[in-house]
Amino acid sequence: AKENGQNYFQFYVASVDREIRERKQLEKDLSGALNNHQFHLVYQPQVNLETRRIIGAEALIRWEHPQRGLIPPDEFIPVAEVNGSIVEIGQWVLDQACWQAARWASDGMPLRIAVNLSAVQLRQDNIVDDIMDTLTRHNIPAGRLELEVTETSFMTNLEDAVEKLKRLHRAGISIAVDDFGTGYSSLTYLKRMPVQHLKIDKQFIRDLLINEEDTRIANTIIDLGKSLNLTVVAEGVETAEQEYYLAQRGCQLAQGYFFSKPLKPREFEKFVASFHSK
Ligand code: C2E
Ligand code: CA
Ligand code: CA
Ligand code: CA
Repeated sequence: AKENGQNYFQFYVASVDREIRERKQLEKDLSGALNNHQFHLVYQPQVNLETRRIIGAEALIRWEHPQRGLIPPDEFIPVAEVNGSIVEIGQWVLDQACWQAARWASDGMPLRIAVNLSAVQLRQDNIVDDIMDTLTRHNIPAGRLELEVTETSFMTNLEDAVEKLKRLHRAGISIAVDDFGTGYSSLTYLKRMPVQHLKIDKQFIRDLLINEEDTRIANTIIDLGKSLNLTVVAEGVETAEQEYYLAQRGCQLAQGYFFSKPLKPREFEKFVASFHSK
């Protein structure tokens, strides 16, 4: 038994050691990814459940690693947030998404683009000016941009977050609370924040109508949205039953694989055309 314990310990040390090395390597690769053009954006349509029109798209980052292939954002965004490189990456995302929105608008497809804004980005002193400059540079009306922030953004410095989001909102940008219900939700945030959209996290949608608790949570968020006059967006909609339920329950917008997975710009354009011709 003692020998086994020792073996286990050695195995444990070796695996922790490997994890540290892999993380260091990931960080190193990440630092060159932007300059080496390894990032691109994909866009997932947001559908109005009442009119069944696509009213916007969420931009999501993809990293094509030269050796490892596609690395999911859940794996590298947290690393980029810890080492601060999310500031530069996030600015690239915003710039790229605005460029795309401007192109689509000039092609007769004026969609609203939703961009994820990390709490680390929101903490930057010049973030509001940087965002406004980006809109100006691409000649995009502020109403065409939505910023998705998580509840984490409100935690470190509530006053600072309130002040910045108010400035962005006054300029005409809309603000969505992403992953609503999974973080340190507080109704105080909703009261103080200039928020217009609530996104029901996909973990509550996955087992909608199967799990009673999830269904009740989704209902509660929809009702909360109604009473606070916020638009509710359901993410992770994968079935016709979920769409039907959410629509009749009064949820206004939805995105998910049931409509489309996130797509590259060209495919996105084709998807919008075919969806609207149905
Ligand atoms: P998120 O903002 O909550 O984005 C929703 C995630 O759900 C996306 O994963 C999307 O591809 C996925 N999804 C969409 N529809 C469905 C569905 O029907 N079923 C399931 N199971 N999943 C669905 P993705 O693209 O891997 O992104 C993961 C997370 O990485 C995002 O979660 C967001 O927190 C972060 N992220 C992605 N792009 C960016 C970015 O540009 N900036 C920042 N700061 N974070 C980003
Ligand atoms: Ca999001
Ligand atoms: Ca989410
Ligand atoms: Ca998330």
